[in-house]
Amino acid sequence: MEANANANGLTAAPEAAVGSGMRALDRWLNLGAVVLPFAATILAIALFWNELVTAADLVILAVMYLATALGITVGYHRLLTHRSFQTYPAVRYLLAALGEMAVQGSVIAWVADHRKHHAHTDVEGDPHSPHVGHGSGIRGVLRGLWHAHTGWLLVSHGRADWRRFAPDLCDDPGMRRLTGLFPWLVLAGLLIPAAAGFAVTGTASGAALGFLWGGLVRVFFVHHVTWSVNSVCHFFGTRRFDTDDRSTNVFWLALPSLGESWHHNHHAFPRSATHGLRWYEIDPSSLVIRGLARVGLAWNVVDITPERQRERLAAAPR
Ligand SMILES: [Zn+2]
Ligand SMILES: [Zn+2]
Repeated sequence: MEANANANGLTAAPEAAVGSGMRALDRWLNLGAVVLPFAATILAIALFWNELVTAADLVILAVMYLATALGITVGYHRLLTHRSFQTYPAVRYLLAALGEMAVQGSVIAWVADHRKHHAHTDVEGDPHSPHVGHGSGIRGVLRGLWHAHTGWLLVSHGRADWRRFAPDLCDDPGMRRLTGLFPWLVLAGLLIPAAAGFAVTGTASGAALGFLWGGLVRVFFVHHVTWSVNSVCHFFGTRRFDTDDRSTNVFWLALPSLGESWHHNHHAFPRSATHGLRWYEIDPSSLVIRGLARVGLAWNVVDITPERQRERLAAAPR
């Protein structure tokens, strides 16, 4: 799903290319990255139905899901896009590498796209708003949701100007290197669960099942949960702060998204390390950041005081 890594992995397409200039090869790669895990998941469900799955496969799936989804939520999103906390370079690079294994684009491409989403939320220029330019009526709603969830990967993914939106990462040699290594980290993310399956069973079929469940099925789940934050969390759900966008909080996605579905809170306070601002708003990614801070691996964790939250409350909660 790498969109525009050239030899040095650093030149993004000019802004003028947005919406029209995505390379055909990138579009095909992204389409493959969408369709393959989907097809593999159908196959896995058939195997599951026929009891051709072991507890080990499901444990490998869960571990790989947590590791790569946290790479996105704690690494790509809260640390690298929004600088919600600080940590040692080794932790930054490890989180970025785990994020790349989620097959959502290289670290610099992801951060640039996401900062552009915050700069133009739900208006022209947002790479994945369900509300811009999709027409009216039920057709417009469905087209908008499709674009925000998946369609944008074939149109505007990876097109944000990296120098403009992610200059800090472009100036970091380690992040540039990881961006160039993106295809290899995708491969590693598929081979590690295969190796784990082989280690547990000692058989080729064990390795194949590890690859299927911890590799492709895991990519499918992480993909669709992340993309639901772009689609569902700008469409359905609740709002309480005074923000200029259409972002929403969606409680039923809180656990699978590891806290990212408190997305309206996040748009109100983008730098907050915690997105679930109320005690009942479950936010596993925040717990991980607090855990890192507890053991001395994170510091300068950004918190939003209750007073600041009260000041931003909408006059009439929507
Ligand atoms: Zn958003
Ligand atoms: Zn964000």
